[in-house]
Order: sequence, then structure tokens, then C-alpha cells
Amino acid sequence: MTHFFRFLGGLVIVNNKSKNVLCEGVKQLERSYSTTTIREYDVVVVGGGIVGAASARELKIRHPKLKMAILEKESELAKHQSGHNSGVIHAGIYYKPGSLKAKLCVEGLQLMYKYCDQKKIPYKKVGKLIVATNEVEVKRLADLHDRAIQNKVPDIKLLNGVEEIQKIEPYCVGLQALWSPHTGIIDYTLVTKQYGIDFKEQGGEIHLNFEVNGFENSKDNNYPVLIKSKDGQQVKSKYVLTCGGLHSDKLAELSGCPRNPRIVPFRGEYLLLKPEKAAMIKGNIYPVPDPRFPFLGVHFTPRMDGSVWLGPNAVLAFKREGYTWTDINLSELMDALFYPGFLKLAFKFVFAGAEEAVKSLFPSLQVKQLQRFVPSITSDDVISGPAGVRAQALDAEGNLIEDFVFDMYKGTGEDSVGGRVLHCRNAPSPGATSSLAIAKMMADKLESEFKFIKESS
Ligand SMILES: Cc1cc2nc3c(=O)[nH]c(=O)nc-3n(C[C@H](O)[C@H](O)[C@H](O)COP(=O)(O)OP(=O)(O)OC[C@H]3O[C@@H](n4cnc5c(N)ncnc54)[C@H](O)[C@@H]3O)c2cc1C
Repeated sequence: MTHFFRFLGGLVIVNNKSKNVLCEGVKQLERSYSTTTIREYDVVVVGGGIVGAASARELKIRHPKLKMAILEKESELAKHQSGHNSGVIHAGIYYKPGSLKAKLCVEGLQLMYKYCDQKKIPYKKVGKLIVATNEVEVKRLADLHDRAIQNKVPDIKLLNGVEEIQKIEPYCVGLQALWSPHTGIIDYTLVTKQYGIDFKEQGGEIHLNFEVNGFENSKDNNYPVLIKSKDGQQVKSKYVLTCGGLHSDKLAELSGCPRNPRIVPFRGEYLLLKPEKAAMIKGNIYPVPDPRFPFLGVHFTPRMDGSVWLGPNAVLAFKREGYTWTDINLSELMDALFYPGFLKLAFKFVFAGAEEAVKSLFPSLQVKQLQRFVPSITSDDVISGPAGVRAQALDAEGNLIEDFVFDMYKGTGEDSVGGRVLHCRNAPSPGATSSLAIAKMMADKLESEFKFIKESS
């Protein structure tokens, strides 16, 4: 089209004055053409998982005049962590008092139930038992109880002995247990898709199959950030929020942030209880977590469809989105293996890591772990099930980063666009439970970092 106007401009031979007028007209047409082909937004959110969709929704509801879009590389929302998780609405028991996780999980649970009631999204408040089966775990359970109280988890109760435990879970054994009646289950894919519907109803746009692979200076003062996709699509924006889950470090690096903390993908595999045994499990049954590890340990989780999942374990995934042992991406694998932080972590947990890998290959070993709580379950009662991959941020010293992390480029490069891009760098569990609370915090942060957004309401 641009060539067509140039061609037309060159063909028309008239006197100098009318030639200038014509050339100006052609230039204007060229300009308007180029601005209509590259879509322009006030705020773009990269990543259509539960955190990105919730944050886009919250900002659009607060500021209806903002022109906004979500860019997602897959053909639908919630294709990765948000659609491959345990589906538990956590109550906020485990997290360090004062941490973002503690605050946003407790707040997120309340918001989630309220939202699902409004939108008629089904959930079940099946509750959760955290069960101690030996003296060491009894001591850890007491610490967890303290934490839960400090985190203001409502109605938490300590149960003593098998009799009290079996009033809630008839097949479960243990010395002591913490009972959390407000823990629930839900389908987070449905929730994410509903956030997307709300966003679109407010006038937001969702562009699927848009894999972002660059942020550049557009040289347009009104829309300074040019966002490019792998297949040549482009949009311009004033500000950007990235919520890239398993790729959050790569997206941060693209806008000039340091690559660390690096994302290391840990696959969590589930077993399924055979349907004829599913009625044995009423609610969530969890072990007392080992404080050395960031994951909660394999547990029994009833699902909204009536099935029961057992897991997830934690093994290194050979690809960021590697859902099986045979999903391998050599460059991503090398990237993880040669990261000094990963080497230090592997050294610290070499035996625990090897044990998890062996249990993954021999599910009967995983069943053995679960028999500590429900002794009547056997290997014949389970079949292999689905898997999810956790995006776990790891620092260069080999420490797994527990809390949610948000970050922005602080450099001053002349052409830099990094100062206009906010990143969600670490949103592991309970990120789905906390999504509406994270969204509120993100919207507050965007309003305070980028004054324009606040002014646009
Ligand atoms: C096994 C497992 C069990 C879990 N259990 C629970 C639970 O019971 N309760 C709970 O609260 N939480 C749980 N979690 C955690 C929860 O799932 C996550 O905290 C949450 O889903 C994170 O959402 P997100 O939007 O940050 O990430 P994601 O859902 O991974 O979304 C990121 C999105 O960004 C897109 N993207 C990435 N790169 C690009 C790019 N370059 N361009 C465009 N798009 C891009 C991806 O395709 C993806 O859709 C669990 C997680 C796992 C893995």
C-alpha cells in the first residue's frame, strides 16, 4: 500500500505548487496508514495466565478510559501454570508472617470466594488437614499453627489423635493435624477465562498467538514502547506489565532488567486415584512441609469433577513448558544446568533431587509416602495423571526465592524503554489463590510508578 502511494505520487506531473500539496497529502496518508497498522495502547499486559488476566481486568475496571490489551503467545488463556495446578484455594497457613504471600493469600481467598459467588463459578469449601505422623512433624505443626495465627487465617484448629482426625477424614491417620475449614477447591482455568471475559466487556482487547520477543523504543513520543512478536507482529504502548510465568526472566531481560533471579522449571506430576476409591477422600490432606523445600509435599486433592489427584512431586523439567520426561529443549536445559544458582542448588539437594526423580519413575514409591496418611491406599488404586510445571525463581547463590517478586529496570539508557515496563518475576503457589489481591497491588504499583495511569480515570 505504501509503495502504491509512492508510485501514485511519482506519476502525477503537475506544476510545483500542486506537486507539493500532493506530496504532503501522500505523506499524511502514509503516516495514517502506518499508525493504523501498528495498534496503539495505553497499557499492554504480556501473559494471559491468571496473574496477567487478573491484573489487566483490575486496571481496566479502575480506569475504563485506558486503551488496553493482553498479548498471549498461546491460542487460549491459562495454557500453562494457571491451567495445570492443584486447584486449591489456599488459606495462607504456610507463609512467612509479613511476606507478600501471607498478606495476598489471606486477602486473595476472601476476594476469590466473593468473585466466584458473583460470577457463579463453582467451587467447594472442602477444607484441609495438614497431618503430622511423627514427633518431628508434631513440632513443625506447632510452628505452622503459630504462623497461621500470625497470618490471621480464620478458624484454624489443632486436632489431637486419630479419633479427631477421622471425624473429618475417615481413612486418615496421624498424631496431630491442623484443620483449615475455609480451604477450597476450584478450576482456575475457568477463573482465568472469566477474568478475560470481564476485561473484554470493559473494552480490553486480547491478542492470542502473539509471542513477545522484543521491546524497543518506537521513536513515537506518544507510544514509546514498540512490542514485537516472534512472527513479525507489532504493537505500540505507553506502558507495559509482564506476567510471563515460566518465561518471566526472559521477558525482564528483554526490557533491560538483569536476568537474575532466573526461572528454573520444576515439573509436578500427579497420580490419579481410581474412580471407585475417590469417595475415600473428602477434602485436602497435606503432609507437614519440610522447611528446607519451597514445595508443600505430595498431597491428596479432590477435584471439582469428583476425581482425586495425588501429588505433585518436584523434578527438574527439561524444558520450560516440559510436561513429560521426553519434553526436552536443549538450549533451555543447558541454560538451567549451567546457571551457577542451579549448580549450587543441585549440590545442596543432590540426594533429595535424585530421590524425587526415582519416585517419579516408580510411582509405587510415591504411594508409599501417601500411605503414611491413608494406609489403605495401594499401588493398585492409582493410575498416572497429569502434570504442571512450576516457574520457580532462583537467585545466583542457589536460593529458591519464596516470595512474590515484582521488578522494573532502573537504568537510564537514552533509548531505554525499560523504565516503562513493570515485571511480575516470581508468582509461584499460592499465586492463583492470590490473583485478585496481586492484581490490586499491581494496579496500585502501576498507578504510582506511571502517573499518567492515575490521571486517566
Ligand atoms: C503443579 C502446580 C500446582 C499448583 N497448585 C496451586 C494451587 O493449588 N493453588 C494456587 O493458588 N496456586 C497453585 N499453583 C501456582 C499457580 O498455578 C501459579 O501461581 C499461577 O498460575 C501463576 O500465574 P501466572 O499468570 O503468573 O503464570 P502462567 O499461568 O504460567 O501464565 C503466564 C502466561 O504468559 C505467557 N507467556 C510467557 N511468555 C510469553 C511471551 N513471550 N509472549 C506472550 N505470552 C507469554 C504464557 O504462555 C502463559 O500463558 C500451582 C502451580 C503448579 C505448577
